[in-house]
Amino acid sequence: MKIIKFGGKSLSNGTGIKAVISIIENKIINKEKFAVVVSARGNATDDLETILELARQGKDYKSQWQAFKDYQLQPAQSIDFSEEFQLLEKIFEGVQLLEEVSLKVKDLVLAQGELLSSKLVSQLLINNGQKAQSIDSRSIFITDDQFGNAHVLEDVSKENCTKVFDEIEKDNLAILTGFIARSEQDSTTTLGRNGSNYSAALFANFLNAEELQNYTHVDGIYTANPDLVADAKILDQISFQEANELASFGASILHAKTIIPLIEKNISLRILNTFNKNSKGTLICKNGQKKGVKSISVKSGVSLINLEGKGLLGKIGIDARIFNTLGRENINIGVISQGSSERGIGFVVDSNDAENAVKSLLKEFAFDISNKDVSNITTIKNVSVVSIVGQNLQGFSKSYQSLVKNNIDILLINNNISGNNISLLIEEHQVNKAVNIIHSQIFGVAKNINIAIFGKGTVGGSLISQILKSQEQILKRKETRLNIFAVAGSKKLLIQSNGIDQDWETKFEESLNTTESVKEVIAYAESHHLENLIAIDNTASSDFINSYPHLIENGFDLVSSNKIANTVDFEFYQSLRKTLKLHRKEYLYETNVGAGLPLIDTIKLLHDSGENITRIKGVFSGSLSYIFNAFSDSDEDFSAIVKQAMEKGFTEPDPREDLCGNDVARKLLILARELDLQNELEEVQIRNLIPENLRGGQVDSFLQRIEELDQPFKSLKEAQEEDHVLRYVGDLHGDLQQNKGELDVSLVSVPKNSALGQLSGSNSIFEIYTESYGELPIIIQGAGAGAAVTARGVFGDLLRIAEKR
Ligand code: ASP
Ligand code: MG
Repeated sequence: MKIIKFGGKSLSNGTGIKAVISIIENKIINKEKFAVVVSARGNATDDLETILELARQGKDYKSQWQAFKDYQLQPAQSIDFSEEFQLLEKIFEGVQLLEEVSLKVKDLVLAQGELLSSKLVSQLLINNGQKAQSIDSRSIFITDDQFGNAHVLEDVSKENCTKVFDEIEKDNLAILTGFIARSEQDSTTTLGRNGSNYSAALFANFLNAEELQNYTHVDGIYTANPDLVADAKILDQISFQEANELASFGASILHAKTIIPLIEKNISLRILNTFNKNSKGTLICKNGQKKGVKSISVKSGVSLINLEGKGLLGKIGIDARIFNTLGRENINIGVISQGSSERGIGFVVDSNDAENAVKSLLKEFAFDISNKDVSNITTIKNVSVVSIVGQNLQGFSKSYQSLVKNNIDILLINNNISGNNISLLIEEHQVNKAVNIIHSQIFGVAKNINIAIFGKGTVGGSLISQILKSQEQILKRKETRLNIFAVAGSKKLLIQSNGIDQDWETKFEESLNTTESVKEVIAYAESHHLENLIAIDNTASSDFINSYPHLIENGFDLVSSNKIANTVDFEFYQSLRKTLKLHRKEYLYETNVGAGLPLIDTIKLLHDSGENITRIKGVFSGSLSYIFNAFSDSDEDFSAIVKQAMEKGFTEPDPREDLCGNDVARKLLILARELDLQNELEEVQIRNLIPENLRGGQVDSFLQRIEELDQPFKSLKEAQEEDHVLRYVGDLHGDLQQNKGELDVSLVSVPKNSALGQLSGSNSIFEIYTESYGELPIIIQGAGAGAAVTARGVFGDLLRIAEKR
């Protein structure tokens, strides 16, 4: 036979009770052999408790009492509940008068919830023409007299059970009350809150049932609480042992005691959903499905207590004193952790007990404190225990790294002896995020990368469309979800937690004005528990770089196409790297030099692998590449070529920004610093191509006089050796093993058939000379400018970081 148990929510008015009756009737039609165990309906137990408490305080409880009665009668007005109602009424009146109530009386009151429930269910079945009979389990379960949490005496109870079942009229379906029992002295007792599950397990044991079906309001046991983790999945099958671990760590659908009577007789337990016929639920049986992690559970509302002191080292009996002290106060200790040096002991207690625990420990250790053997007894409140059931320490390393990278502080870590359960202590405000990170690491579901993009100009805009276009493919290929949750312009900020989509530009225009984008983005990420954060700087702003440290401290990795952070003073450069190291964050900026060309990455790799880079030389600027390639090849005036470059969009709006050489100097400096050289921008020798008298003033007035450049450049061109061309190059040389290198930005004449000389269009070229490669440099060449290739480079950096998360 089977035992079918229905919980309070399943039995609630409306869809619940209707579904219960139809589930039972279907089983009757299918000729299944079973007995039913019911909880009190809806919130009956809580409601009775509330009314009783009102009465005890001498307060008016009439309206709550009336509502309770109405609720109980609602599914079948004709039913006779006068016995239960009268009893309750009498008790409430008495309690109100005395303003006092015993646990014994309370049990009698709460028991009525289950009695009303079994009476109603059997009556509804009878009304439908079925044969059913409600059975008061007080005629079966005998307990001690620990009211509120009585202990069942199994042998007598089992005998009673057999007797009662023998006497049930043939073909009658038994509707048994859960939760309630009777003491040896004949008083009503209860088996603890949620005790109906335990009653059902005992019935299954006594009656040698082959299965216990527990009908709840959830689909089964999940890999994690679906309210916390969107990707949580139902577990088909888990073992008793795992269920037990889950029960003790917050999976409230299983009473810890429930499993034992089932294991004893190898009876499987199926968790089913009353409200979802299609769900197959979770089967809990002797053997779980496969080895490995099954579920992540969270227990909130606990506090960590820490006892520290030098004098604890090697001292015997400290632990015993802690346990004894707390034992005397009836305080239960959860997870415990102790350093091998024994300088500190940390353990978890229920938050309600924390204050009392510290108080009694301070008293117990008063002498040791005055002796300075114990230096401190501290509490961290509002922490949660996150347990990963079925996880061993080895398998945990990936999750651990991911938690650390996401700035989750793990206060304490503990694995049980069997090695299949790990518990972490985490502050409550980080729990949501932590559970999601662990879940995605363990179950291999797609990881979320949460991206905030600052700057939506040409590069920023291209990047957004590139990401939106490849999102789906990356999700499939790399199981990584690129979620752009924020886009910030100079005055506006668009935030969308599920990520922006194609119509983001319209939404951006409609978004609110703000001057505090960074602050808002950080606050949003924090309050929405977003993990794997990356901030992208596509601005050209020198102010924005001051937000970098703030972003890093708040859990963001950085990707930047903005060069400024790498070219301001070396002090900033260094302190930024310190902050990054401290917070284990990354900062990638491949596009700072040569746009999307894999230059910085290559240099870093060579340098980090110990290869001596002896010189880096090349044409670093796309606009100046174009200007000198074209000028060398044609007979046109220099000014005409510059104007062409402007028209093609190769230069800045004011071409002097290119021609002055500062941009090339910055790029050169960035490369130098990559080699650990400590140069400053002022130390770069720059050949400024603008004569001094044309450097000031507006663009327009410069352009009116730009022909003044023609003669000098013509002379330069003509003064070259045969088959030579002009190139504007950056050159890092000198002894690069020292603290500083020599950085020159100059206009040079090179043979036309050399690598530099053969450059065409607006391409960039970089020659990297190293010790092992000798005279033959590694050459990296290609489009070194333009919004699309720059965006592509930024995208590459983004993926590089995402991969590591
Ligand atoms: N009605 C009791 C409670 O709510 C027992 C149960 O539902 O399992 O705690
Ligand atoms: Mg319940």
